[in-house]
Amino acid sequence: MPEVTSQEPAIDGWFATDSTPDGAGSPYLIGSKCPECGTYVFPPRENNCPNPACASDTLESVALSTRGTLWSYTENRYPPPAPYPAADPFEPFAIAAVELADEGIIVLGKVVEGTLAADLKVGIEMELATMTLFTDADGVERLVHAWKRADDDAERSDEEERHK
Ligand SMILES: [Zn+2]
Repeated sequence: MPEVTSQEPAIDGWFATDSTPDGAGSPYLIGSKCPECGTYVFPPRENNCPNPACASDTLESVALSTRGTLWSYTENRYPPPAPYPAADPFEPFAIAAVELADEGIIVLGKVVEGTLAADLKVGIEMELATMTLFTDADGVERLVHAWKRADDDAERSDEEERHK
C-alpha cells in the first residue's frame, strides 16, 4: 500500500470540510435547493427541480444539516462487485439512510468502521463524518461521507458498561 500523502474526496462536490458554524474542520454535505419551491436535493445538481409541481430549472448549492435521524439501515456482509473498491479481507459494514434534521431529505451513506447494524436503531440521531474509501496509487486517501452515531463514545461506553 502506498504511503498516504493527502486526502481528497472520492467524488468531487458531495461534501466539504472547511469552516462550519459549529467548528472548523467538521464535514458537511453539499446539496442543492430550489430557490422557487425550497425543495432540497442530494447529491447536488445544477438544474431540474425534482418537485413535479415546480417548473424551476435552476438549483442553488447549499450546505446541508450535519445531523439527522436514522430512518433505515442495513448491513453489507459481502464485498461489492468490481469495479467498486473493497477492503481485503472484506469487513462487513453498515449503510444508513438518515433523514436530515432541517431539510427532511434522506441521505444514504456508509456507517463508520466499528458500528454495525447491531449498534443501530431506527430513530437515533446520526452525525456526518468522513471515512477513507480507498487509497489510490499516488497515496491519496479518497474520502467519502459517512454516518456515525451522534451520541459519542462516552455515552455509548456507559451503555455497554451497564450491560456487563
Ligand atoms: Zn422547485
